[in-house]
Amino acid sequence: MNFFEYRNEELYCEDVKISSIAEQVGTPVYIYSAKTLRRHYNVFKDAFVKTKPLICYSVKANSNIAVVSLFASMGAGADIVSGGELFRAIKAGIESKKIVYSGVGKTAEEIAYGLKEGILMFNVESIEELEAIDDIAGQMRVKAPVSIRVNPDIDPLTHPYISTGMKKNKFGIDVKYAKEAYNIARSKDNIKIVGIDMHIGSQLTELSPIVDALKRLYDLVSELIKAGINIRYIDIGGGLGITYKDEETVSLDKYAKAIETTLRNFQGKLVLEPGRLLVGNAGILVAKVLYRKSNERKRFMIVDAGMNDLIRPSFYDAYHEIVPVRKTQSKYVKQDVVGPICESGDFFAHDRSLPLLERGQLIALMSAGAYGFSMSSNYNSRKRAAEVLVNGKEYYVIRERETNEALIRGEKIPSFIKIRR
Ligand code: PLP
Repeated sequence: MNFFEYRNEELYCEDVKISSIAEQVGTPVYIYSAKTLRRHYNVFKDAFVKTKPLICYSVKANSNIAVVSLFASMGAGADIVSGGELFRAIKAGIESKKIVYSGVGKTAEEIAYGLKEGILMFNVESIEELEAIDDIAGQMRVKAPVSIRVNPDIDPLTHPYISTGMKKNKFGIDVKYAKEAYNIARSKDNIKIVGIDMHIGSQLTELSPIVDALKRLYDLVSELIKAGINIRYIDIGGGLGITYKDEETVSLDKYAKAIETTLRNFQGKLVLEPGRLLVGNAGILVAKVLYRKSNERKRFMIVDAGMNDLIRPSFYDAYHEIVPVRKTQSKYVKQDVVGPICESGDFFAHDRSLPLLERGQLIALMSAGAYGFSMSSNYNSRKRAAEVLVNGKEYYVIRERETNEALIRGEKIPSFIKIRR
């Protein structure tokens, strides 16, 4: 459920006309609905009536500090994967005791930063990382709170690029060696074991892999507790899918019930790391039609957003619904919607039946709130899009469109190169 809808043939976000934002802020522009973000967070939270989990919003899905801070204001924590995300989370007002740090390649500097900020826990993904954390914590004379990220070797039935909990994936420590990893952790002077973690993949539309993985995890937890290891937190990651086209998603109530049933004897705290579910359908990308052209085989709609703005179609062959911002009577024709980038992979849709639009008309790429702007780049030296947050009748530019100067910030021409003017 979201608050993007047509009123009198015009697309609105809450009570603001999309075309007015595009006129004033320009295109391409990401537009998010605060009411949808709040609603998604509350529905998610309310599904877990019994357990009252710690909800750590997965910052990578949409890392704009306004979005993160909206969740912070509702009591959320954060799941982070870099020092940069830690910086953002803190700037956005997330309490450090609600921050969990995942990722296979944390650097020494990032580990020290996390320790200095006093985060809730490091989700450790290898023995060497555990040793590095122990060393750094020792130098800083602190105890590092850790959980081990376990790879349960379960097929999450999603796109291979976003599957993370199988043996062939780089994530976590194989469930078979996890006990050994805990024993090593226990032997370290500067490590304090606080929990266990998993995250098996993203855009999951089946409940059974999550439950199977959780059962595997919980069997291990029972063994660890018997062995006297302190598991205060069970973090089961994020991953719930959303509807982009016609996918049937997992019912939140069933998800919550299955988790609560599996963990019914667990005395500690449940941690969840939702990303896409909270933000995906709360955002759109608006672009303007630049040109049309056709040949005997194809018709192209060339728009001013590119794969640098929204890479999901190029990267995962992902589907985004495309709609005109102002409804039109023109006939529907199959066409490719493409961007201005010099790559044939720069497309948003192939052979999609869409109305024939004029130059200057606007389209909206729906469900672009997750892994949209946060995966954008400056490829082809394109300035990254502006981001706008709508709240009722008001809208706020929460990230300005980049400037040419911003594109070359930090770049230097060394003195041996003589510039000819
Ligand atoms: N937690 C971890 C460790 C992740 O790697 C991810 C996404 O890749 C998430 C949470 C969020 O996943 P999603 O956006 O599918 O909920």
